[in-house]
Amino acid sequence: MHTQNLSTPKRALAVGAHPDDIEFGAGATLAKWAAGGCEVSLLVCTDGSKGTWDSSANIEDLIASRKSEQLKAAMKLPARGEILFLDCTDGELEGTDLLRSRVARIVRELKPEVILGHDPWKRYRLHPDHRVAGFLTLDALIAARDPFFYPEQDLDPHRPDELLLYEAEEIDHFEDCRGFEENKINALLCHVSQFESTMGIETNNEQADTEKFKDQMIARLSETESGFKSAEGFKRISDL
Ligand SMILES: [Zn+2]
Repeated sequence: MHTQNLSTPKRALAVGAHPDDIEFGAGATLAKWAAGGCEVSLLVCTDGSKGTWDSSANIEDLIASRKSEQLKAAMKLPARGEILFLDCTDGELEGTDLLRSRVARIVRELKPEVILGHDPWKRYRLHPDHRVAGFLTLDALIAARDPFFYPEQDLDPHRPDELLLYEAEEIDHFEDCRGFEENKINALLCHVSQFESTMGIETNNEQADTEKFKDQMIARLSETESGFKSAEGFKRISDL
């Protein structure tokens, strides 16, 4: 049993641990909503400073590249809301009260009807930032909703209607993404610094590897149990 296709929200906020996570998890869904008039905002928690296999890489340059790649990727969706960065150190994200208050403030300011984030309960997902970013999203959602969290923010509480967890352990909701595969793929392909380490695209075989990557993404979208030709799956939580 699963649900499908939320009505297009007016505003959506997607939270990811690293530049590129949001596009992998929900890029096509966000592109579909953007096309339907949704103001899509993105919040990236870390600076992506561990995202290379090149031990001689200049970290400052890498951080700058990853931020500009994320901004370009957002335009491919296109996300017309805010593109925000918490700038935490990659690999060292911690669910601190300070971060929770920062994310809660963003939720209260942007007032998204739908929040998307990593499923922190996804089994055998090794990267700690994905787990931490997932819990941070949930904890901030609760804090944003309840008035006695951070009253010093002097902002109205905000309760989103829906929470969609991507890369989910138990998928129970699908979004039909037909026609928006290209937006997702083109957004992902903005993350040039991740070609080798994440997308299997080697510099010396870039064209063929890029085609292979596109095929993999199309296949992944088509291989769901949604009944749709192309879909992204989520764990949906509506009782917020
Ligand atoms: Zn990631």
